[in-house]
Amino acid sequence: MKQFHLTYENDEKFLKKLGEIKQWWESNETYKLVFRIYSQDMEKEHIAHVCDLLDENIPDALYLGCTSNANILDGALTESEILLTCTVFEDKTTQVKLLQYPFTEENYKDAVDNLKKHCEENPWVNSIEMHATIMNMSMKGYCDEMSTLRKDIQVFGGGAFNPDMDDEIAYVFSKGNGFLQHGIIFLMLGGENFHAYSTFISGWKPLKRRFHITKADKEILHELDGKPAFEVYQRYLNIEKNDNFFSNTLEFPLFLEREGANILRCPLAVNDDDSLVMSSDMDEDAYVKIAYGDPDTILNSIREDGQKVADFQPEVIQTFSCAARRAFWSDLNISKETVMFKDVAPTAGFYTHGEFLRIDGNMLNFNVTLVIVAMREGDPVGGKIDFRGPTFKKLDKIPMIWRFVSFIETSTAELEATNRMLALAAITDGLTKLYNRTEIERRIHKALKKAEGEPGDGKVHLIMLDIDDFKKINDECGHREGDEVIIVLSNILKNVTDDFPQASAGRWGGEEFMVLLEGNSIDEVLAVAEKIRESFSKVPFESAGYQTVSVGVTQMQNGETADKMCNRVDNALYMAKEAGKNRVVWLDS
Ligand code: GH3
Ligand code: MG
Ligand code: MG
Repeated sequence: MKQFHLTYENDEKFLKKLGEIKQWWESNETYKLVFRIYSQDMEKEHIAHVCDLLDENIPDALYLGCTSNANILDGALTESEILLTCTVFEDKTTQVKLLQYPFTEENYKDAVDNLKKHCEENPWVNSIEMHATIMNMSMKGYCDEMSTLRKDIQVFGGGAFNPDMDDEIAYVFSKGNGFLQHGIIFLMLGGENFHAYSTFISGWKPLKRRFHITKADKEILHELDGKPAFEVYQRYLNIEKNDNFFSNTLEFPLFLEREGANILRCPLAVNDDDSLVMSSDMDEDAYVKIAYGDPDTILNSIREDGQKVADFQPEVIQTFSCAARRAFWSDLNISKETVMFKDVAPTAGFYTHGEFLRIDGNMLNFNVTLVIVAMREGDPVGGKIDFRGPTFKKLDKIPMIWRFVSFIETSTAELEATNRMLALAAITDGLTKLYNRTEIERRIHKALKKAEGEPGDGKVHLIMLDIDDFKKINDECGHREGDEVIIVLSNILKNVTDDFPQASAGRWGGEEFMVLLEGNSIDEVLAVAEKIRESFSKVPFESAGYQTVSVGVTQMQNGETADKMCNRVDNALYMAKEAGKNRVVWLDS
């Protein structure tokens, strides 16, 4: 396999280069020619003219292509608006076949069904390269369908784009099939000696701040933290709801936490109700974080994966790199991600709107990712190549980004720690460190609501406690000793309730306490109450000596309010006092 690169500037230069390729092809008895055309020139006539020249001069050659955000030549961003790569297949067993179909959310299934039929008819297929227009389209259904292809078929490719990131026009085109504004091209590749190795590099990292997905439906992200999802972009990134929405959010996709892994999801558009259309499905109740490009992570991934690509000893390398990466690095630095690959094999490609790669059978639609595809015919012939990692000596804007990210991450961590402390302080009683009255009341309400109508009704219990003759302790031993007695009882409550995951202990007021237990039997609850009473009665206080506590216990009655239940446990406690204090009284109704 060989690869030639040529660009179109004018007919004369182009035809001269094309003639050289044709001559080489004919004199070397090679087998098949496939041209890929990547055009950031959006004028259809200009592209069609190049296609005509190919048709006229090398009628046997196949060609396919798409419009692009920009093109990659010799591993670097090129100024050439129309770039052509010409892959020469030299092995007679290598086969290629070109398919082109209309492609929308309504008819993507027809395209995939047709592809499947072709794959069945052509068992030689082992790789499929795809170019598609995917703007504002959910890729979920398509990816699910593609995942059912024969397991051993690799799929890779990219989404057609436009140099203007906010323009929604893109085209695909191929030999004999004309142009489609909503279309997909599959180039089926295979044969016993055709080998492809594909990999992807992301390097985007999540910021620490988490947002809870409180409402989502398939790829529509309705709410984050109970507010319209768009507000996150507006509030934190100052991104407005205008025609530039897509290009502005592209560099800051969301990381979706799914089964412990992070998946990038890009907001494609914002709806009138401030919900977001995402590049693929979102999970309600999961968490997302805003992601940003981290140069260190990117460079490390390129070093690692680059060596794997080199070890494959490819003859040709194709790159599908997200236009967001170009925006992130800027045109000054973007090529540094990919330029070293040209030392391994001829490297070309384009900046995409979405990248595609099938991994372990699953077809994935990426964003802000670099997909690298290495191809070879036959066994590796060269020796081992040491991959030269990217060398970044002077990066103008990057060190500043690092410092800002470090600043944001550190201050976010500090704020979150403070928030957690404040949230805890808001529900905690200062003296005893038990829940305060507001929190224990909230928990009682919640427990009753949860248990309502459930089988096993009545499994909510309250224990109310009041220290006996407490005024006397204050009067005779001082307020400080009184406080100490309160703290000791609180610690007993904490220790006892620690053994029950569903128990909450709170200070009801003064020297009165309330314990809420959920899911226990009455015997267990009475045993807890008795244990508290007994433990407390055995504590010798420095000047107050031994003290006692009276305890009321009750159980939730079907459908009753929190007020009613609290009154009853208060009555039980009153009965314990009346009966001589230092005892537990159970009141049923
Ligand atoms: P009984 O056995 O009937 O419960 O008698 P008692 O003396 O405990 O009765 P009462 O509930 O009237 O007394 C509670 C006292 O607790 C009144 C109040 O001054 C005192 N108190 C309330 N909060 C605190 C506190 O945080 N620290 C101290 N040291 N005393 C408190
Ligand atoms: Mg009292
Ligand atoms: Mg008391």
